[in-house]
Amino acid sequence: MSYTRSIELFERAQQSIPGGVNSPVRAFKSVGGTPLFIKNAKGAYLYDEDGNQYIDYIASWGPMILGHAYEPVVKAIQEQAVFSTSYGAPTELEIKMAELIKAMVPNVDLIRMVSSGTEACMSAIRVARGYTGKNKIIKFEGCYHGHADSFLVKAGSGVATFNIQTVPGVTAGVTNDTLTCAYNDLQAVERLVAENKNEVAAIIIEPVAGNMGCILPEKGFIEGLRKLCDAENIVLIFDEVMNGFRLAPGGAQEKLGIAADLVTYGKVIGAGMPVGAFGGKRQIMEVVAPLGNVYQAGTLSGNPIAMIAGYTLLNELNTNPSIYKELDEKTVYLRDGLNEVLKAWGKPYVINQLGSMISIHFSDKPVTDFASAAAANNDLFKKYFHAMLKRGVYLPPSAFESWFLNNALTKEDLDRTIQASKESLKEITE
Ligand code: PLP
Repeated sequence: MSYTRSIELFERAQQSIPGGVNSPVRAFKSVGGTPLFIKNAKGAYLYDEDGNQYIDYIASWGPMILGHAYEPVVKAIQEQAVFSTSYGAPTELEIKMAELIKAMVPNVDLIRMVSSGTEACMSAIRVARGYTGKNKIIKFEGCYHGHADSFLVKAGSGVATFNIQTVPGVTAGVTNDTLTCAYNDLQAVERLVAENKNEVAAIIIEPVAGNMGCILPEKGFIEGLRKLCDAENIVLIFDEVMNGFRLAPGGAQEKLGIAADLVTYGKVIGAGMPVGAFGGKRQIMEVVAPLGNVYQAGTLSGNPIAMIAGYTLLNELNTNPSIYKELDEKTVYLRDGLNEVLKAWGKPYVINQLGSMISIHFSDKPVTDFASAAAANNDLFKKYFHAMLKRGVYLPPSAFESWFLNNALTKEDLDRTIQASKESLKEITE
């Protein structure tokens, strides 16, 4: 494969854009090499500026659940665009979007649209603080809730990928209000809550974590958080920016059968447009301005192009729930195929998977939290990543990211991926 044009563009990008990219993990810094500059995408495939084709397991980091350039979404955007790209005034479309979300998702009485997952999580924390009158929050090591100050403590995703311990620019005052625990360690959370009696406003969690690779909640963990939050008047926030509309129409709440007090969304909700949302129980959400004084706003919130894109995709997911069955089956097929070639390879590995989220860790122990994810052989992952890329399979360029399947993937694509894995594993250990 030739990467001549991507190399040229990366050189050029670095003259004008910090690190040549508009979001850090895209830079390939942790896996080395040159990021691919993408020209176009269709269905399950990405095409770079050099004309190479890749089977895409990033799906724009989640949103492209039905594949790229999904025709009903493209058509809806085109039709909407001629009516102006933004009004800054309410539209019926926003009501339809809110009604559709409420129909799909449990425990959401009121929902506010924003423009990113970061904004959604940042706003949910403010609401929890405003509602409870308490300041501290608990988050989990290796979970990522966007780049707002409060969340950049022991965060996953790019923060973990680049091994950034403390983020310059975030004040100690903010950091002191963010308490952290290991994912899946309920007793540690109980201790932390007891040590900070009547001070914890919210516990925020990725119910199925995707920002330290894919990590599943152990039985009883989230149930335990639910009980603790009820007992201590703490707002339980599910960050479903990855999980929402991906694991099930009702996201992790539905998949795990556990109710959150507040939920945040991003990614799939906008079909690839900049959209996020936070919502939940009426009595909590009523503190949000203009009903209450917890101020939150956005010039482009509920933007009509973004809304029609998201609405069209969610509507497809809502009217064809068999999509989730198909996605699950495809992911299990991939998991089983990968298991087979990894077993034959004979070195330690772990595959974690739920629904259409999956990842491989080169580890000899179960990967259940950030420490076990970080202890895996991530150098091997880098080699595996490049060996797969060379064979036309585009995985997330970090072991601290989940892979996302899209429903445009065919059995042939999955077989090609399994075969590429077999060859890649051989190559990296030769
Ligand atoms: N929450 C989770 C679980 C995420 O994975 C992300 C982004 O990857 C965010 C929040 C932040 O979303 P955004 O990048 O849209 O700001």
